[in-house]
Amino acid sequence: MTLDEALYQLKDVQQKIYALQYAGSAISLDAVTVAPRDTAEGRSLAQGILSGYLYPLISGEETGKLLDFLAGHKDELDPLRARQAEELKRQYDELHRMPEQEYVEYSMLLNDAQAVWHRAKEEDDYAAFAPYLSRIIEANRKQAAYIDEKKAPYDALLGQYERDLTMEQLDGFFSELRQTIVPLLEKIREKGQVVDDSFLRQDFPIEKQRELSDYLMALLGIDRAHCTIGETEHPFTMNFTKNDVRITTKYDRGNFISSMYSVIHESGHALYELGVGDEYQYTVLSGGVSMGIHESQSRFFENMLGRSEAFIRLIFPKLKELFPKQLAGVSARDLYLAVNKSEPSLIRTEADELTYCLHIMVRYEIEKKMIAGEASVQELPALWNQKMKEYLGVEAPNDREGVLQDSHWSGGAIGYFPSYALGSAYAAQFMHRMEQDLPVNDLVARGDFRKINAWLDEHIHRYGCFYPPAELFKRCCGEEFDPRYYMDYLKKKYGEIYRLS
Ligand code: ZN
Repeated sequence: MTLDEALYQLKDVQQKIYALQYAGSAISLDAVTVAPRDTAEGRSLAQGILSGYLYPLISGEETGKLLDFLAGHKDELDPLRARQAEELKRQYDELHRMPEQEYVEYSMLLNDAQAVWHRAKEEDDYAAFAPYLSRIIEANRKQAAYIDEKKAPYDALLGQYERDLTMEQLDGFFSELRQTIVPLLEKIREKGQVVDDSFLRQDFPIEKQRELSDYLMALLGIDRAHCTIGETEHPFTMNFTKNDVRITTKYDRGNFISSMYSVIHESGHALYELGVGDEYQYTVLSGGVSMGIHESQSRFFENMLGRSEAFIRLIFPKLKELFPKQLAGVSARDLYLAVNKSEPSLIRTEADELTYCLHIMVRYEIEKKMIAGEASVQELPALWNQKMKEYLGVEAPNDREGVLQDSHWSGGAIGYFPSYALGSAYAAQFMHRMEQDLPVNDLVARGDFRKINAWLDEHIHRYGCFYPPAELFKRCCGEEFDPRYYMDYLKKKYGEIYRLS
């Protein structure tokens, strides 16, 4: 093989991986947006066959030989190709220890499990989902050993979402967070709830909410020629290429805030994907680098910007125009306080910023136990309720609002949840850094998001997967991740809202 031949093959194999992943993602997107309900079977077969083609591309003998050759000619590769080879090797190593049959069966299992979870949640029927969850946990335990048998299984799984993240780091991070959040919640409880958000629970026609989604996406600078919005049970963002990104939301007629913040959150993900450099297209370096960094972008838009007073004042006239009766007599300040009302609740995606991380801690504690084999699938609903009571003081009246509420486990994502908490904390540090360069609050007040997006592009988005997450973070902030920025942010914000001090 000559170097030219190897480089041609490197490009070719990445494009084929891209094409198969594109097809698989399109099927998944269809499944949870517009496909009729009882159609999982055909998709499951198709996904299984697609993954049967994908497996040898990533972990087959030919790819192995190519990667060996490229490793031997490392010094002759430009930085872009060198990183592509390195990333493909990482994926090769993780996958080729896993038998092909297992890989194909797992992809089919996830397809089935998502359909079953969807119905189980609707019908509040945990028993229907339990056998699928049991198989997913078993498969994840095995995969953890394929990824790195020297690591504790849950550490190996965490690393899939945030490279090199460990339970030890998370235990420390969460314990520090708890020490900040719990006393703040305590003080708020002592004061008594002073924020009235009752006006948020009215009838908000879905048509008007759709108009609001369009308005928000335009305001935040989303190019609709490259990004559409769909509807689903559990909002997410999917990227096919940097020029084709799809966000989703879920409309609740009785509460417009729910979809509003989903749209802002998913727009943060979309802006990241839309901003990735052209040079990474159709390679293993395309897309966002990790779930922690990805969630930092979505939570940055949702919370740092979207739940700021400047943002609420900016969009308030539009909200009044869309919902004149419902918001009669409500001021922008009232709405700002309402969207930041802190109160322990059952549903993670509806939680305020202060209690949000406690929801993550509940899932983190449960995942640790489920992967260590310390809790059986049958015990999970009870364990869920026990942890919710311990961390938030609330108990779910049913599994629909309890252990069945999130889609992640049905999609095989065990170890994902901590990325939300980390992402929130990263976002606070990014904000601190951005404020040294830009008058962020003034820009938000004026509705000028161009400079903010350009800053994120320049420091984060454009790099795709070129830098590993920790390096990207350090290059952006000039220092390592420090959760104190997040804790200071929470103390300041909630201290002001609830006049604590
Ligand atoms: Zn997200």
